[in-house]
Amino acid sequence: MTRIIYPLLIFLMTLFTWSPCTAENGLTKKANPKREAHYEISIMDLDHAMVSYTFEANDSILRMSSAGANQFEKRWATFVSGLSAVSEGGENIDINPLPEGRWSYEAEKGSIIKLSYRVNLDHEKHDWSGGIDGVAYKRDHGVFYSGRSLFVMNGTGSPSITVNFEVPEDWKVSTVWDRIDPGKHRFEVHNYDELSESMIFAGEHEQFLFKREGFELLLALGGKEIIAKKQEYENLASGVLDYYIELMGGVPNPSPQNPFHRALVIINPYEQADGEVIGNSISILESTQADPMAQMMWRFVYAHELFHLWNGKSFFPSDMRCEWFKEGVSNYYTLKALHRVGVLNEESFFALLNGFFYKKYASDPGVGSLSITDGNEKHDHWGLVYSGGLFAGISQDIIIRKATNNELSLDDIMRGLFNDFGGTNQSYTLEDVQNSISSLSGGDQTEFFNTYIVGSRKIPLDKYLNKAGLQAEIEDGQLNVSRRKEESVEEDKMIEGLLGEN
Ligand SMILES: [Zn+2]
Repeated sequence: MTRIIYPLLIFLMTLFTWSPCTAENGLTKKANPKREAHYEISIMDLDHAMVSYTFEANDSILRMSSAGANQFEKRWATFVSGLSAVSEGGENIDINPLPEGRWSYEAEKGSIIKLSYRVNLDHEKHDWSGGIDGVAYKRDHGVFYSGRSLFVMNGTGSPSITVNFEVPEDWKVSTVWDRIDPGKHRFEVHNYDELSESMIFAGEHEQFLFKREGFELLLALGGKEIIAKKQEYENLASGVLDYYIELMGGVPNPSPQNPFHRALVIINPYEQADGEVIGNSISILESTQADPMAQMMWRFVYAHELFHLWNGKSFFPSDMRCEWFKEGVSNYYTLKALHRVGVLNEESFFALLNGFFYKKYASDPGVGSLSITDGNEKHDHWGLVYSGGLFAGISQDIIIRKATNNELSLDDIMRGLFNDFGGTNQSYTLEDVQNSISSLSGGDQTEFFNTYIVGSRKIPLDKYLNKAGLQAEIEDGQLNVSRRKEESVEEDKMIEGLLGEN
């Protein structure tokens, strides 16, 4: 098990740090219009994309995403060439480069401009601190672009945006956006954020769709070795999704301010395993050369990120004090989900709890001095917030199960938050979490919260696991967990519950 710790650590650290009246080739001005924008993207080979962007001038700045590509002076514009613009009347418009991946131009506000440029797909020649998985890359069977790497934009807000792809006839285009015409690669996008915070895979890959009560999970699998194992990927993707829907009592119910009804998972082979999330898109690179246990990493990433569609996007905290609940409790349900679909068995579940999560916790210098509610520290103190939150979640699950003879559990807390806050713009507070746990566990949880959540005392996870009927001890910085030789029916039920089985 220790073999997987280092790559898993690196991997998780990088990860957690995802139209009316529009003419085919232009826009038509209307009375009282909603601002419109249209992109034509031609990807006829693996090396580049040709983009034409027709828009109503809003301000005099053209920009690309402000997220990522920080290592380049020109940011994402490093990969853009041949930028030119013409007015509706066909007159050339001068474009002047500005720092930070922006340009200036002059045009009357509201006038229609057609911008053309080329995006060179050679991002892989450069170093990217978070890996290539959230940037842009090519494989023999197709190309991956993040929206950040592809789109030049004008203005902000929510114009009516359409994106049309021209690709070789046998290619597919997978994105998280709404497809306008089932037979065409033409999509509707609600705003510039949704446009740039996205991922696109175009190529000869296979695409699978899982529809659940108005929610869709799109799975794009590329490359022979990945497609050869498609049944395994399909089972995993749909198994984790169905566990969460059953657990929460419904598909994600996002806030009206940030609506979505689709998530996309793109899996491709690569030399190095990696995973990245942008918006509701998850990019996974799987390395067949990796240790079999190391290949488990992306499964963890997928399950963690998918759970955020509920814990994080359907109900979300009002401030950083609840990051432990958002991230750590998501880790807990990730482990349960992976046990549920058979990626983890009991032994590897507890081995991962010790070998990754406890190890990170025990070696985090913030543990014992900082509170797990210091959510701003989550990147510098991963062990404190992500592992500490997981351990607080397990402990609270055991407290509730013990108090209710296994009738209630942390699952009921999750369902309660989903019911109360899902589909609203209202956020939950630390006090909401404490109050709901107190009411379910039949006892005031102020002491637990004051000591281990708001306070900075180390969570005695071994003590709580023993209460659940497991054999647990902490020795030399290791958390050793196993089943007892004899356990009661109640204890067995509780342990099954911790593993996600009831
Ligand atoms: Zn997360």
